Amino acid sequence: MSVLHNSRGFTLIELLIVLAIIAIIAGIAIPRYTASLDKAKESACAANIAVLESAVMRYWADNLDEDDPYPATLQELEDNYIKAVPKCPKDNTTDYQFNKETGEDGGVTFGITCPNHP
Ligand SMILES: [Zn+2]
Repeated sequence: MSVLHNSRGFTLIELLIVLAIIAIIAGIAIPRYTASLDKAKESACAANIAVLESAVMRYWADNLDEDDPYPATLQELEDNYIKAVPKCPKDNTTDYQFNKETGEDGGVTFGITCPNHP
């Protein structure tokens, strides 16, 4: 009787060994997958912040003749500079924070931060 035509099937031990090997492989792969997913979301978050900073600078350039050429909120950038203000990709609900400060010399600095990725 050839090996390919073994009508006996697999023994319980053989099935348990295969299941153990699958469990070991999954135990290695799943933590690596979640770690790379977190890293990808962090990169996407940084890209969103870069897009928002660029939109604020374009808003500033278009409103230089105003007293305060900066937007009061990021939502003011919608339609003209960005389609919609993105959310942090980590949970898709966290809003970015727009901070602007006027220095002692009157110069304004602004920053966009993500509470999930300080
Ligand atoms: Zn974020």
